[in-house]
Amino acid sequence: MPKELETIIRQQIRHDGPLSVEAYWNLCLAHPQYGYYITRDPLGVAGDFTTAPEISQLFGEMIGIWLVDIWERMGNPPRFHLVECGPGRGTLMADLLRIGKLVPDFMDAIRIHLVETSPALREKQKEAIPRMKVTWHDSLDTVPQDESPVFIIGNEFLDALPIQQFIYQDNRWYERVVGLDANENLSWGLRPAPALKEITLPENGKIFELSLSRETTVSQICKRIRAQGGAALMIDYGHEVMGFGDTFQAVKNHKYVGVLDECGEADLTSHVDFARLKDIAIRKNLSVHIQGQGDFLISMGIQQRAAQLMEKSDTIQDGLHRLIHPDEMGTLFKVMEIVG
Ligand code: SAH
Repeated sequence: MPKELETIIRQQIRHDGPLSVEAYWNLCLAHPQYGYYITRDPLGVAGDFTTAPEISQLFGEMIGIWLVDIWERMGNPPRFHLVECGPGRGTLMADLLRIGKLVPDFMDAIRIHLVETSPALREKQKEAIPRMKVTWHDSLDTVPQDESPVFIIGNEFLDALPIQQFIYQDNRWYERVVGLDANENLSWGLRPAPALKEITLPENGKIFELSLSRETTVSQICKRIRAQGGAALMIDYGHEVMGFGDTFQAVKNHKYVGVLDECGEADLTSHVDFARLKDIAIRKNLSVHIQGQGDFLISMGIQQRAAQLMEKSDTIQDGLHRLIHPDEMGTLFKVMEIVG
């Protein structure tokens, strides 16, 4: 029932007052009964949006090359945990394993963990990698903390985690909130917020987006890498230099819709602030490198692999273009590599 969730959100606002963007986002995407990710598989042409692994097998294969390479550089550990955050349909994992299978010792060493909250998508993941032993987790917390290194990957995972929005107005900070207007429709409001100490004051009217949830996740990833050894590769659209602006967006059927218009029926995302995430890794004394998706994929040999496959398929060329061209996903999407 499309409007059920909106009714629940209105009731909650009536009862408890306006919601932060973070609280609204969590209800829309993760409400236990009506949340967007809980109720459906949103990916692909028939869904709402298409991600890199769904565009071409080349993407997951290049992550596979990265992984085998770093596993070898770390001295071929005889056991390691491969953790994928938000694996969607399991396509990236299936493509990555195609490369892994070329190295039998790598396959003997691997323990696969999928961090996924959506029951609908867990089913798809089971189908995508049918013969592999897999452990599912609701969060990173339950991934074993033992002697084995962790390799953590995630494509378009961080952008699904919520943000708060703050606006600098009349020489002070306010938080943007979702309330109700006189007709009981969802509408924007402001409430006074404490000063954001570490942010350089912008001009009046500028919006700052903060995602404690993304920062906590990256911090957890870094802690694991420090404790167990290993590396992480997080890929998402976003900016590498700190900036101001409203990047909160909703997508349904491959089109933008109003962020307050389709509660639980549209995907909600925002640009990932890689500048802040990078600082977290640096503070934990880890080596961190951010580059455009195009450069990363080219450095992993995507063009050579595409040339090999093109003999069999002409959709490969189109996929390659979409993944690496600067006008497509090549520069807007960033690859953040953290190495312990
Ligand atoms: N990586 C996939 C899917 C991206 S969509 C791809 O590139 O195609 C975002 C994924 O994150 C989905 O699998 C969604 O169910 C999952 N997800 C969203 N919020 C989550 C959370 N808080 N914890 C774990 N998984 C989450």
